[in-house]
Amino acid sequence: MQPAAPETLIDGYRRFRGGRFAEERAHYAELAEGQTPHTLVIACSDSRVDPAAIFDAAPGELFVVRNVANLVPPVEEGGGLHGVSAALEFAVKVLKVRGVLVMGHGDCGGVKACASGMDGVPTDYLGPWLSTMEPAREQARAQIGEASLAELSSHLELVSIEHSVERLKAFPFVADAIAERNLEIHGARFSIADGKLEWLAGDGRFETVSIR
Ligand SMILES: [Zn+2]
Repeated sequence: MQPAAPETLIDGYRRFRGGRFAEERAHYAELAEGQTPHTLVIACSDSRVDPAAIFDAAPGELFVVRNVANLVPPVEEGGGLHGVSAALEFAVKVLKVRGVLVMGHGDCGGVKACASGMDGVPTDYLGPWLSTMEPAREQARAQIGEASLAELSSHLELVSIEHSVERLKAFPFVADAIAERNLEIHGARFSIADGKLEWLAGDGRFETVSIR
């Protein structure tokens, strides 16, 4: 038997219908005709890092795919079920977004699990998924040398974003869109504790975005 709908969700839905949806009725009617989001955001599934909240984006602005540790998987041809790659293909080829942003975050549990050598990580799906980050972990280790787990995790968060940005560019249709229509590829990290946003700059460093 199906369980009853959870009260927390239903209460929230009712607030939404009476609040935002009612207030933005015209905008929703317009959105029903179709979407033209400007950016694809690849973010972590972590419940604390909602891209629409962080970028104060209205419905219709962001095409979002979230997964554990905001990873872009490597190009894998020959079929298979590739949720992130499918979302990427749709956003770039069909929606023709202007940019793709890989957005990591501070205190990422997935990154920490990889930094700690996959200690206690379930092995059916999560382990193989997080192993995508292993080359980034080796690079992070080599760059910072002897470090605590917290320091390594924090650095790996940034290095992993850079690696995901590079893997994005390896998708042939992404490379084509960069060459043909200047598709922009971005990386950033949001810090939950203090709200800081660091943006991957041209020289490969992360620069804090000023708040005014
Ligand atoms: Zn995370």
